[in-house]
Amino acid sequence: MPWCEECARYFTPTAMTANGDCPSCGRHIDEAAGLSDDEKTPWHFKLLVTALIAYLGWRIIVLFV
Ligand SMILES: [Zn+2]
Repeated sequence: MPWCEECARYFTPTAMTANGDCPSCGRHIDEAAGLSDDEKTPWHFKLLVTALIAYLGWRIIVLFV
């Protein structure tokens, strides 16, 4: 949930402005707003998926050897 340091309170997504700004002081508080899907994906999640694919690929290779 977005936190505004200026007002020292949390805001629900519907309580913020359309741009993800604080309705009281206008500070930008929603880091997720305006980012693409790719930028929202954490790097460690991509690493986990890559490792999982490599592991499953290895298991399939072992099955046929
Ligand atoms: Zn504020």
